[in-house]
Amino acid sequence: MTARDAELLERLRRIDHDEIALLHRRLPAGARALIRHGQHPLRHRVADEDLLLDADLARHLPDELVDALIPPDADEGHVPLGRAWMQAKQARKELAAAAGAPEAWHLLGGLRRTDPLSPDVAVLAVTADPEGWVRRVVDTLPREVLVVAGSRGVALAADPEPIVVHATTPDAAPTSLLWYTGPRLHVRALAARATARGFTLSRDALLEGDAAVPVVDEAAVYERLGLPLVPVELRGRPDILATADAGNLPTLIEVADIRGDLHMHTVYSDGRDSVAGMVHAARALGYRYMAITDHSPTSRASRVLSLERLAEQAEEIAAVRALVPDITILQGIECDIQEDGSLDVPDSVLERLDIVLASMHESFGHSPARILQRYERVLAHPLVNVITHPANRSPGRQPGYALAFARLFEEAARTGTAVEIDGAPGHLDLDAPLAELAASIGAPILVDSDCHMAERLGRQMRFGVGLARRAGLTRAQVLNTGNVDAIRAFVAAKRTGRR
Ligand SMILES: [Zn+2]
Ligand SMILES: [Zn+2]
Repeated sequence: MTARDAELLERLRRIDHDEIALLHRRLPAGARALIRHGQHPLRHRVADEDLLLDADLARHLPDELVDALIPPDADEGHVPLGRAWMQAKQARKELAAAAGAPEAWHLLGGLRRTDPLSPDVAVLAVTADPEGWVRRVVDTLPREVLVVAGSRGVALAADPEPIVVHATTPDAAPTSLLWYTGPRLHVRALAARATARGFTLSRDALLEGDAAVPVVDEAAVYERLGLPLVPVELRGRPDILATADAGNLPTLIEVADIRGDLHMHTVYSDGRDSVAGMVHAARALGYRYMAITDHSPTSRASRVLSLERLAEQAEEIAAVRALVPDITILQGIECDIQEDGSLDVPDSVLERLDIVLASMHESFGHSPARILQRYERVLAHPLVNVITHPANRSPGRQPGYALAFARLFEEAARTGTAVEIDGAPGHLDLDAPLAELAASIGAPILVDSDCHMAERLGRQMRFGVGLARRAGLTRAQVLNTGNVDAIRAFVAAKRTGRR
């Protein structure tokens, strides 16, 4: 144990029995996990406030102690991504109003890694004077909002986790970003690698002896350690440093690779915005094409599309098309898969649409085998092009179906039907292991927003692309990185196979 470790442990031993119950619920997740799973002397209030603010307190302790105290599942989060995003956005607004806007903001932790359930909500403010900035925050914000205030950070009250705000200088930003992005085991492995190469990695600097090595960004830190930049979404993989070391990191898909979004809703069903509103948002994101896909008549969505309204929508889309020739607007539909695996819209209607999505919103209490049968029937349908949110999960609420997914993806590949990575916070499905399996089997994959509000079109695509990156997918493995002709050809291939 180093002198620093010993000193930290000593600080952790300061006990305040009375306050712990009060404080416990309000602590940041990392600190709470350590205390929850800890034995004496850690099951007590931690006295150092800067340590409390460290979203992953455990990084400051000797590895053996942490391993003995924290079970492997302690890193599992419970803040849904959509909520974490909104909270971080709101906090930045309030902090900027309270203390002035910093030079830059960065998302940290699970939010930055696109964890569907984040262990923390944390942001980094980069400013020339972090202590002064934090002091202004503390002086200005109401006391009841401040859970813990340290010299270089604060935790703000929020549900279910406090929002942790770290402040740092531009020089220290690359290592702070790396440190607080985590996860713990990745940072620990990097720190060990640094030590083996004669460096010391901390949240404030990469040191060579006593001198800070200048690093302009995270990539420069990895480079000093003889590694390519490890994408944040892959940092939770236990073998990722070995993969990076061997030069085998994939070139992951990026948001800028997406050329169109093929799943979104309008006021014709349960969306908030008009066709024109969604088109405007899609153009602003630089998309070349998009599909309007409202809910079919028997869907359990709060509002659905009747077949008469579908015809009206076709006219409205035609009118918008005439106004905006620079983006291709496809008319599609999101059809509910019925109890027997049929669809609730006749083929004569479906074949006039540009693309057809099919969704299971209801399992009718069916067994996994029965659900798979329903999917198989739908996959065989020549007019069905996409299975949306295939696992039908909702992070933190529904674990999703426990299907023989390999079978589903094989059928998708065989029939020329895409499976979707849905970026809506209530779905985030397919996620990493399943999307990776789908890609390895060769099932066509789409990344869509499933957006119901124009202003969230970009955010939800970003979430979807984050999931694709968690799955290690490249641009070539995602269908909507291609042009609209490729999408049309994909639809036509399945349809003509029928004839
Ligand atoms: Zn749906
Ligand atoms: Zn939808």
